[in-house]
Amino acid sequence: MERHAWAVTTPGPEGTARVGEALGQRLEAGDVVTLQGPLGAGKTTFVRGMARGLGIAESAILSPTFLYVREVRGGRLALYHVDGYRLAGGRVEAAEAEALMEELGLDWYLQAGGVVAVEWPEPVLEMLPAERFAVRLEFGPAGQEGERILTLEGLGRRPARVVAELAREYGRAPAKRP
Ligand code: ADP
Ligand code: MG
Repeated sequence: MERHAWAVTTPGPEGTARVGEALGQRLEAGDVVTLQGPLGAGKTTFVRGMARGLGIAESAILSPTFLYVREVRGGRLALYHVDGYRLAGGRVEAAEAEALMEELGLDWYLQAGGVVAVEWPEPVLEMLPAERFAVRLEFGPAGQEGERILTLEGLGRRPARVVAELAREYGRAPAKRP
């Protein structure tokens, strides 16, 4: 499968949100974005930026860590914000996690013509389309209050093209850098 990865360092939360915003502006109905990285890495911060790019008020994005799915409307496309935290890290057996997500209607959300963002996607990766965007966030050397190393990967033809475009745009316009 075609794929394209782009890595960038973001100095603070706004930088991470701006990359999310740039992606959000290019998302289309049915797109799926997974977000991986440890607690506090900036996954929800990135989704806030995505919301901005979709025309949704950022304040509408709350961390769904203690829920499984939040539906956010008001933008160009509906955003379904899924959080697998309570299912990840072996807390729940894989089959059980999938059954729960099925019951919660993950398949429905994937078909609903909105955008699906999934934090802690590991337990449900098999249920997601192969063509998608994958975000990884890692702490920089200063830890919690500093840089993040953000990797955005497009899996499949269109996602790969979108990521290549973003990388090119950020390379060309230093002022746009996060
Ligand atoms: P997660 O969803 O991965 O658990 P959150 O986005 O909820 O993480 O929280 C990230 C925290 O880290 C926020 O408090 C944010 O202000 C802080 N932070 C500091 N630097 C950055 C950065 N470069 N990118 C993202 N968040 C950052
Ligand atoms: Mg979060």
